[in-house]
Amino acid sequence: DADLSTVDPEVAAAVAAELHRQQSTLEMIASENFAPAGVLEAQGSVLTNKYAEGYPGKRYYGGCEHVDVIETLAIERAKELFGAEHANVQPHSGAQANAAAMVALLQPGDTILGLDLAHGGHLTHGMKLNFSGKLYNVVAYHVDKETGLVDMAEVERLAAEHKPKLIIAGWSAYPRQLDFAEFRRIADSVDAKLMVDMAHFAGLVAAGLHPSPVPHADVVTTTTHKTLGGPRGGIVLSRAEYAKKINSAVFPGQQGGPLEHVIAGKAVALKIAASEEFRERQQRVLEGARILAERLSQPDCSDAGVRVLTGGTDVHLVLVDLVESTLDGKQAEDRLHSIGITVNRNAVPFDPRPPMVTSGLRIGTPALATRGFGADDFTEVADVIALALRPDFDEAAQRDLRARVDVLAEKHPLYADKG
Ligand code: PLP
Repeated sequence: DADLSTVDPEVAAAVAAELHRQQSTLEMIASENFAPAGVLEAQGSVLTNKYAEGYPGKRYYGGCEHVDVIETLAIERAKELFGAEHANVQPHSGAQANAAAMVALLQPGDTILGLDLAHGGHLTHGMKLNFSGKLYNVVAYHVDKETGLVDMAEVERLAAEHKPKLIIAGWSAYPRQLDFAEFRRIADSVDAKLMVDMAHFAGLVAAGLHPSPVPHADVVTTTTHKTLGGPRGGIVLSRAEYAKKINSAVFPGQQGGPLEHVIAGKAVALKIAASEEFRERQQRVLEGARILAERLSQPDCSDAGVRVLTGGTDVHLVLVDLVESTLDGKQAEDRLHSIGITVNRNAVPFDPRPPMVTSGLRIGTPALATRGFGADDFTEVADVIALALRPDFDEAAQRDLRARVDVLAEKHPLYADKG
């Protein structure tokens, strides 16, 4: 059988170029990570050939004896790692996991209460063009303008006023921990269900470095490719009482055949996530983010209108506020790209600039921690970023900072055996 470079040189060339990009630049998109070799191997395996509609032991196809072993391992590891009564590991993505959870818990037209997208929420928490915004009556809560923290008094007020059937706690861009017990209390006070979307911080929860939402929520959803460091995909965890509803909402409700090659990757990632090595890595994730927040709070940054939202971070990312800077989010993203650091621009709460431009950056440390970065390396990266955002950035600074990025990239080789 012909290999990829023979059968399709164009795709092979683009894959090789992407490998080189990942190896030679510093990946600081907060939702990204580097899947380990075992996960890549599982995903590139013959499991991709198999149809397995249904669940282990109850399939609609023959020949599922081996994928049953794999999916059962993934389910049991997910339950064990997060202390959940039930796990469904079939969602193709985080968005699919959320869709299934909401189908299981809600009727179309029901009211949901979620964090506003512009304040750090996710599309699936009620954005108007998303299924969640079209199927449900959406009420959004916000962060406080002064503190940047989720306004729990507003959550309570909106819950009492609108009586949502579901409250969603979770975020895509927020640098602090949420108070799950308080969300639970508010949900109970209006007889709402509570769903926590821990897509971003699941790896920190797995490592015991972030409070777990599992004891508080009816349903917890996650992606497997962010801090968790596995293949692209989703998982739904729930109390046993919702198991049947969740399973039937995923299949046949949302999806057909599960991606057993991805589920194998999830099983591998969940095994790794239970290890001491993983915990140590997540500690470096947090330490790196704290170092970055501190450096970007120094006077040379604040003088240039660069601010750290909420004044710091408790998680794997820092939100940089450029409202007072002459640089907008797009320009800042492009500037960091020009020195080999990949981040994404991000709207900040109450952003005066349009969504395609924005006044913020979201900078995350998980991928670099996976690459082996420790405190010294993060101190260097933080300094490079701080200098790149200064008004006196010019061609000479660009060359100098790019050279510093190259040194860090070479110090921590990535996928070295892949060429
Ligand atoms: N939930 C949250 C909080 C997210 O940040 C994301 C992805 O960015 C998702 C869900 C959706 O995940 P996916 O992109 O796999 O659909």
